[in-house]
Amino acid sequence: MPSISRLTADIPRSGIRAIMERAMEIPDAIRLEVGEPMFPTPPHIVEAAVEAARAGYTRYTANAGMSSLREAVALRLRREYAVDLPTERICISVGGVGAIATALRVATELGDEVLIPDPGWPTYEMTVAGVGALSRRYPLYPANGFLPLVGDLDRLVGPKTRAIIINSPSNPLGTVLPPQAVRELVAWASRRDLFIIADEVYDSIVFDGAHATFLAQDGYDGLIVVFAVSKTYAMTGWRIGYAVAPLEVSAQMAKMQEASVACAPGVSQKAAEAALRGPQDCVHSMCLAYRRNRDAAMEILDRHGIRYQRPSGAFYLWVEAGCPGSKAFADNLLSTRGVAVAPGETFGPAGRQYVRVSLASPEAALREGVNRLAEAIQADRRLQQ
Ligand code: PLP
Repeated sequence: MPSISRLTADIPRSGIRAIMERAMEIPDAIRLEVGEPMFPTPPHIVEAAVEAARAGYTRYTANAGMSSLREAVALRLRREYAVDLPTERICISVGGVGAIATALRVATELGDEVLIPDPGWPTYEMTVAGVGALSRRYPLYPANGFLPLVGDLDRLVGPKTRAIIINSPSNPLGTVLPPQAVRELVAWASRRDLFIIADEVYDSIVFDGAHATFLAQDGYDGLIVVFAVSKTYAMTGWRIGYAVAPLEVSAQMAKMQEASVACAPGVSQKAAEAALRGPQDCVHSMCLAYRRNRDAAMEILDRHGIRYQRPSGAFYLWVEAGCPGSKAFADNLLSTRGVAVAPGETFGPAGRQYVRVSLASPEAALREGVNRLAEAIQADRRLQQ
């Protein structure tokens, strides 16, 4: 057999997928490991897709997406963030992940370095490696409220650093960057002449305060902001995201999509358009349900005296398991107590003693799962004493 690319073979598999596949084999397992909304896609969106399929939206579209969807995105950004953007700066992608991958392809040369968060969504590392660049992790830790510090970033920048990925609201931490931090980070990236890839796919899921978008700093010409309909409208399987970038970057991203996906699926684009143009009360009610789940889970952990990072956005709870290795802990939790959580170490070395719980799960299952998790952490603590 011809040899498989080293670049691909060396990329580690996502630890979330690994535990998910184990959990799928265990009947009655409580599944709190994946970031998948517990809601179905709202019916008016599904109807729009059915109609679109019947009406013949079954062909290739422009690389950058249908102009009607790009207009709907511009409308949404005006409505939510009061920013006025020409549609040429909007590139429709296959999920938020597609936009991040294409942005990295446009922003980096082979062997360049990209700063990614530790802990951070595992796909960043895979995607950076996939374009032949190298990840350098910047630390997010309790003492700085899990927010990036310019001083820490400065120590990591070298001659090959080209870009930084910043995620707010954060998966797995649930932190939401305040406007001041957004301004500071953009000023810092501009001084260093770096691209910022701001991953804001959870921008509609914020519990305390408001989301501060990087688009507010749109004057910086190294800024690429990524959104998706996946989490906002419970549309993970439709695979539609979008990036807002400077004109030249957006054009290059659209061009490069030809070589990977050609374009996002037409029927899904029409569904996303219906989501963005249609009633928004579904977004609000889903967000309220995630907040109720957050409060229920925090109450259980408080009762057991277990520490966690209080999430202000996204739908995850970052729980201090206190174990020496979170992968072994999560495997054991699934085998012995039937609860699947994501091991923290798959989000980076900083996650070794943590696990991530998805709050986008039915409330009864979440309560039962978090109770069992808390009991397991306490049992481990007793053993260590
Ligand atoms: N960014 C973060 C932080 C995520 O957690 C996810 C999905 O879990 C994505 C991007 C990708 O979103 P999509 O499903 O739209 O590709």
